[in-house]
Amino acid sequence: MTITQDVTTHDLFIDGVWTPPASGRTSERHSPGDGRLVGRYAKGDASDVDRAVAAARQAFDEGPWPTLAAPKRAAIMRRAADLLRERADEIGRGITLELGKPISMARNEVVLTAEVLDYYAALALDQRSDLISRHTDSALGLVLKEPLGVVGMITPWNFPLLLLSWKVAPALAAGCTMVAKPASLTPGSTLALADVLTEAGVPPGVYNVVTGGGGEVGAALAEHPGVDKIAFTGSTEVGQTVMRSAIGTVKKVSMELGGKSPNIVFADADLDQAVRGAYWGIFLNSGQACQAGSRLLVQREVHEEFVARLADLARSSRIGDPLDEKTQIGPLIDQSQLDTVLDYIAQGLSGGASLVAGGDRLDGDLAGGYFVAPTIFDNVSPSAAIAREEIFGPVLAVTPFDTAADAVRLANDSPYGLAAAVWSSNIDTALTTAKRLRAGTVWINAYHDAGLPFCMPMGGYKASGIGRELGREGLEHYLETKAVHLRLAR
Ligand code: NAP
Repeated sequence: MTITQDVTTHDLFIDGVWTPPASGRTSERHSPGDGRLVGRYAKGDASDVDRAVAAARQAFDEGPWPTLAAPKRAAIMRRAADLLRERADEIGRGITLELGKPISMARNEVVLTAEVLDYYAALALDQRSDLISRHTDSALGLVLKEPLGVVGMITPWNFPLLLLSWKVAPALAAGCTMVAKPASLTPGSTLALADVLTEAGVPPGVYNVVTGGGGEVGAALAEHPGVDKIAFTGSTEVGQTVMRSAIGTVKKVSMELGGKSPNIVFADADLDQAVRGAYWGIFLNSGQACQAGSRLLVQREVHEEFVARLADLARSSRIGDPLDEKTQIGPLIDQSQLDTVLDYIAQGLSGGASLVAGGDRLDGDLAGGYFVAPTIFDNVSPSAAIAREEIFGPVLAVTPFDTAADAVRLANDSPYGLAAAVWSSNIDTALTTAKRLRAGTVWINAYHDAGLPFCMPMGGYKASGIGRELGREGLEHYLETKAVHLRLAR
């Protein structure tokens, strides 16, 4: 690893060793905030994936990780969590430089990642198998849980370390070995985790990283006969491609995909809280969050007042240098995402919705980055593209509704089903609505977090995914089930 000021050149991490890619190629990453060069990364290919899978296979087949005593495995994971907390400033700064996420949130992402490791370290201590016995039969059954094997992990750029940890932590707890392929735009924290895990005592070959393009490294991983499972987070479109690639070898797959999540505000809600919830629901991470509350449904009695207050809040956002501790909203990830977002804004304008906040790329001091003002469209037709398609940017589509039944119908009218929220001071209204929503996560009087982030399973209905991450459900994806039938002497 060579460091030149802020610019680091990273190799691949295979079998516990930093190693150059077979091709010798690298790619450069420039900051989306001001265009400065922030990283150089090895461009791996299928032959590097072969080497990494071979290392992970050997570490799985020959151990010691899969059979290490649970208390030892948990202690190593807790040590890794402590190291992450110690390095939160440094790793958080790297995330900010690559992704443009405000530094306070990037640092918090590292701290939350440590909590995920702690949580699954505790579950590593609590893995059990079942014994089945009937007093009428001279037989016993053992239902054993075993580590699944070698896992390929393909991750997106928007929460590059946290979303990786939702895979790495349960995989480590289960006793699996793994090859991670981070998004090309944000590989730094996935590579930093290699140093952390090694220092914590994770043996060589358990955690490997191959950086490089999705079509090359990601596809090679998804097709590889030595990989038992693919854990993927990203867009629905690429998820479908990965599923097709995994079919040939009948791999297990878990998929965390896109969303277009409805945020429903009833007239009896605490409007102060709901305005703040709606704001962060969509504008967190500049709208680049899979669970973003990008469709706001507001009951007609309070609709006008609510939108006016939300627009005021949006206009007062602190947008700017992501390395500034006070910044709330940073730039978009790159030129392509900027073009996509500006195109959707143009469609919103031409489609007849009313623009009540934002709508522009920011210039002046921010002209060197991909900054877009928090944008709100009101009275959006439910059939408009900005109300149906995942924009993955700071663009909110507001639609008024009359009755609870209308709200549920509008909310469920989507190919996605990742998340939703309901704001109401009436628990019957809130719970009845929550139960009718076709979404994997529903918050009541909150958005993004109600205080139990990692114990709760997370994942999508419909085109938003397959399986669940986090919680006890998240561990199940890294375990195989074996039935052992034992005949007793009669
Ligand atoms: P993406 O374009 O789908 O990429 C995700 C990952 O897949 C990246 O590592 C990418 O590599 C890789 N990839 C691309 N083509 C591939 C192929 N043919 N085979 C295998 N892998 C391939 O998604 P993104 O733009 O990084 O992230 C945004 C999307 O992720 C949004 O749709 C968002 O909703 C979704 N997301 C979902 C969740 C969730 O939990 N449900 C969480 C976060 C994000 P390269 O970077 O090299 O292209």
